[in-house]
Amino acid sequence: MIEKKELTEFTKEELFEEIKNIGEKSFRAKQIWQWIYFRGITDIMEMSNLSLSLRQKLAENYTITRPKIITEQISIDKTHKWLLEFKDGERVEMVYIPEKDRGAVCISTQVGCAMGCKFCHTGSQKFTRNLTVSEIVGQFMVARDAYKEWPSPINETRYLSNIVVMGMGEPLNNLDNVVKALNIITDGDGIAISRRRVTMSTSGIAPRIVEALQKTGVRLAVSLHAPNNTVRSQIMPINDKFKIEEVMKACQEYQKGDHSRYITFEYLMLKDLNDNKQHAKELISLLKSYKLKATFNLIPFNPWPGCGFTPSNPKTVEEFSKTLEDAGFAAPVRVARGQDILAACGQLKSKNKEK
Ligand code: SF4
Repeated sequence: MIEKKELTEFTKEELFEEIKNIGEKSFRAKQIWQWIYFRGITDIMEMSNLSLSLRQKLAENYTITRPKIITEQISIDKTHKWLLEFKDGERVEMVYIPEKDRGAVCISTQVGCAMGCKFCHTGSQKFTRNLTVSEIVGQFMVARDAYKEWPSPINETRYLSNIVVMGMGEPLNNLDNVVKALNIITDGDGIAISRRRVTMSTSGIAPRIVEALQKTGVRLAVSLHAPNNTVRSQIMPINDKFKIEEVMKACQEYQKGDHSRYITFEYLMLKDLNDNKQHAKELISLLKSYKLKATFNLIPFNPWPGCGFTPSNPKTVEEFSKTLEDAGFAAPVRVARGQDILAACGQLKSKNKEK
């Protein structure tokens, strides 16, 4: 039996090409696109403005698959976490972090992660494989199904308003699929999440930063976590490959000519490692020397068994934030969400038994 092709694996251009190749007019591709991404249907036979014969032909050869929900947990603060499984049995987690009238969905791009950041629970699980385009897009569609946000809202009142590509994996190590998936998610005829509401976070794969942002138009976040190479190399092995200076130059290049492109620097507060006043001052001079428009996101550390790090005490975090803010950088302290269900930053794992 021939395996059916996954319709959500195609970019818009690829779908137009595919439909042309099976002898259909290109406007059919646009209709199919809207059924999948505007209406959210998963049954090809529901595409009621296509002829029955075309629907049958499509259903024989194509499919629209969602990742399978293995478990779902909702935290006391309403943070929602899913464990999702793909066709080959591999699993990732996805998290929805609701605010009052909107919220961000944190999606994964790889099964496991090869970057090995020392503070990250996800990074302690070895890299297995990249996610496909349909597996990346499918995650967000599962969240849309859960909150019944189909058809795509045409005004700005959306509960699932933002996407952060910050789940499991390093997105820039799966660049082609991530670019395609984000271009599908932000396409105005379908899911239509605004590009400025999508943030892609990298551990600092410097040579791919500009390319990734140019090809997607989304916002950039960098997991910085240290003000200098000595500290950063202790906690992020990637720093031995791409030093802070290279990352900063890439950020500078990304911002060139468009200072509305604020960069978010993620900064995990680790006791006695990166959290004193001198570290804050080093950060300030680092960013000023590269003339970067940036905000900091100070993240209280969520310890996990065997991690070997201690969270900074709250007063130290407050002082750190104030030093940065006095120098003109916004530096809010992130409120940890979903702690009771291990849904916070860096806590995502893909196997139920490892939670
Ligand atoms: S912080 Fe991100 S890049 Fe680093 S190990 Fe964790 S998932 Fe990978």
